[in-house]
Amino acid sequence: SKEGGRRRYHFFEPALQEAAEERQRLEFDLRAALALGEFELFYQPQFHLAENRLYGFEALIRWRHPGRGLVPPDRFIPVAEELGLITSIGEWVLHQACAEAVRWEGELSVAVNVAPAQLAAGTLVAAVRKALDTTGLAGPRLELEITESALLADDGSTIEQLTALKALGVKVSLDDFGTGYSSLTQLRRFAFDKVKIDRSFADDTAVVRTVAALGASLGIRITAEGVETAAQMRRVHQEGCTEAQGYLLSRPVPAGEVPGLIDRFRDG
Ligand code: C2E
Ligand code: CA
Ligand code: CA
Ligand code: CA
Repeated sequence: SKEGGRRRYHFFEPALQEAAEERQRLEFDLRAALALGEFELFYQPQFHLAENRLYGFEALIRWRHPGRGLVPPDRFIPVAEELGLITSIGEWVLHQACAEAVRWEGELSVAVNVAPAQLAAGTLVAAVRKALDTTGLAGPRLELEITESALLADDGSTIEQLTALKALGVKVSLDDFGTGYSSLTQLRRFAFDKVKIDRSFADDTAVVRTVAALGASLGIRITAEGVETAAQMRRVHQEGCTEAQGYLLSRPVPAGEVPGLIDRFRDG
């Protein structure tokens, strides 16, 4: 009816318009965020199980916006991809992670997430070389985490870039393993240094056991992600994962808290 139509107009349209306006504000703010220095990296420990020691940290981006607070990556990375901002944000992440890691004690590694678009752009190798050169971080201390979606639409150039990265000594990890359609196929296409079992499998003994065995036979390190309980930690160790990461060890922390965490792990 006409009445219903009018009610719909009054009820729905302002909500839709508000959502559209909020999206526009988000895009506007995101375009300015890099120049305003609003991004920062949090770091989560990666623990070596057999050697019982801290091995390195994964860098996880946060957006500290004056009005929105601390925005998690799932809220803005997809938008940054759509807006074509991900390559420049990715270059900032690479530089920042290398610059912070080079100051850490010991030979701890830093793992950086790489968006599929960074590989598609074909500029990743140059960006990595520049980050290593300008910060002085040794190539073997940098790990790049890529998901299999980066490999799916490949014309050969992705594998070429990954090979060039390994020539720099940089390590390459396959992230979120088991969540895609062709994870095993991807393992045959490139000599990954590490596979990270997606956290949705933290409780799945059969999957953890199988992937750990696969890693052992292929000579690939296997990280269990999303380890939240002592029972999960015991299980992933027992089943042969080489590394673990998760809230049980620590949540991601601001860069300033990393030295304290390093001390805590060293003192046991
Ligand atoms: P990811 O690479 O799979 O990172 C792991 C995510 O799991 C992180 O969420 C981390 O905080 C969370 N996590 C770690 N341990 C646990 C646990 O024990 N339990 C649970 N429930 N969660 C845990 P975060 O920081 O919100 O990042 C989400 C995703 O955003 C990342 O998933 C990654 O895909 C993306 N991302 C983060 N930083 C960057 C970046 O610098 N560049 C790009 N392109 N993507 C990034
Ligand atoms: Ca990751
Ligand atoms: Ca992951
Ligand atoms: Ca993920």
